[in-house]
Amino acid sequence: MDTQILEFLKQLIAVESVDTKKEKLQEVIDVAVKQLDGFTIERFNQNNHPSILAYVGNKRPEKFKVIFNAHLDVVSGMPNQFIPTEKDGKLYGRGTNDMKGGGAVEILVFKELAKTLPYPVALQLVTDEEIGGYDGTQLQIKNGVHAEFVIAGEPTDYGINNKAKGIIWMNVKTKGVAAHGAYQWKGESAILKMKKALDAIEKEFPALTKEEWRTTINIAKLETSNSTYNKVPDDCVMKLDIRFIPEDW
Ligand SMILES: [Zn+2]
Repeated sequence: MDTQILEFLKQLIAVESVDTKKEKLQEVIDVAVKQLDGFTIERFNQNNHPSILAYVGNKRPEKFKVIFNAHLDVVSGMPNQFIPTEKDGKLYGRGTNDMKGGGAVEILVFKELAKTLPYPVALQLVTDEEIGGYDGTQLQIKNGVHAEFVIAGEPTDYGINNKAKGIIWMNVKTKGVAAHGAYQWKGESAILKMKKALDAIEKEFPALTKEEWRTTINIAKLETSNSTYNKVPDDCVMKLDIRFIPEDW
């Protein structure tokens, strides 16, 4: 099984399945489906993000006992990262860890066990996890794909994680009044206005110094369209990466 997983994983890594190359998303699904002879394959597609659901038998049950969920898309990388490389007993390549490795295991475990289990299981392969999951997993849920239990093969350092924080990406904008830098009183700095928001965030959500289960805000970027020294900036945008816990929703 080890060699089988390794060889299959290399095939998955070699497909540059990034969001900007939609044909590669289809190709990586096709590579996976080649493993799934003899199973029913339901195909879904939204915004050119293909996904599949595989199971035993002709009719999809109302509810599966277990769904194995895996995403086969990866974040974009350099061309050489899509050449799987073995070194010192380790495999390197884009998505080896997140999560074509977990995906390869799930696909092959499903293939080996699904027909022997006394309850219905499914394999759900999606290609849009890195950009939100709306066109894959969420689309399938909306189409009535349900389970009592879902196992996602995301890397967790071999721990079992039963929950994850929610995510919001937010832009905060401030507007000021432009003026010449030598006549500050005639204007209002959008950056100084933003500083107040920044200070409030830092007070309410201080940055974590160790792992902790609470809502966090990462101030990812500060921008202004001002590009000169001698102008009071009249616009500022702050980009926030908010990771929230259910209690704060
Ligand atoms: Zn992942």
